[in-house]
Amino acid sequence: PLRPYIVGNWKMHGTRAMLSEARAIDRAAQRHMKVEVALAPPYTLIHPIHREAEQIMVGAQDCHHEEGGAHTGDISASMVADAGAKFVILGHSERRQNHGESDATVRAKAEAAFAAGLRVIMCVGETEDIREDGRALDHVKAQLKASLPESIEDAGERLTVAYEPVWAIGTGKTATPADIAEMHADIRALLVELLGEEHGREVRILYGGSVKPENAGEILSTPEVGGALVGGASLTADSFMGIALAA
Ligand code: 13P
Repeated sequence: PLRPYIVGNWKMHGTRAMLSEARAIDRAAQRHMKVEVALAPPYTLIHPIHREAEQIMVGAQDCHHEEGGAHTGDISASMVADAGAKFVILGHSERRQNHGESDATVRAKAEAAFAAGLRVIMCVGETEDIREDGRALDHVKAQLKASLPESIEDAGERLTVAYEPVWAIGTGKTATPADIAEMHADIRALLVELLGEEHGREVRILYGGSVKPENAGEILSTPEVGGALVGGASLTADSFMGIALAA
């Protein structure tokens, strides 16, 4: 099995003053090789962090679905790859909510990312209303199926899925281990259906939403949890590596 994958999503945080934090994360990652550590800073820091990093992989938090063109302010998958990104986070709920990204948009972005040679961390998750309605499992599976490229077999090895319940992001609330295990088992079954036994079992399924050093041990030891996608707690080397150490 692949190593636990601990990914920091810096969201819209970070100027060059944060490069020292990235350096500290990289140094710590060199001492904890049984965990795969990665960082998705804002676009502006991808290249500076990539240039210095010896261990951690650097990625982007989004990309456009087209290769280039008249799209003021947008950035393509090949551009982030050129800057040193090895992966891209796609379908994050903040993109889906704040930028109206549909499953179809996310799918087009995933196709562009794979074509540019990037790995993809595909995010899915239900809102609080959907969970209270008892529709979380069906919702997340439908979202995942519609967000992944239709012919995914070739890219299976480069795929990671992140389950992030929307109500757990930045709220201090986390899903219970039982709920996480149930969701991840369902996602696993769908991945096996879509990618076949071999690749379907290989894909790591990360949990995201208020992961902290204090709860990381329990979350990361839950069945089918292959790592964590970390927002707030990834902003300092201390708390981020505290999570990596719990893996
Ligand atoms: P928090 O860890 O801040 O809750 O954010 C989770 C997240 O959205 C990571 O992508």
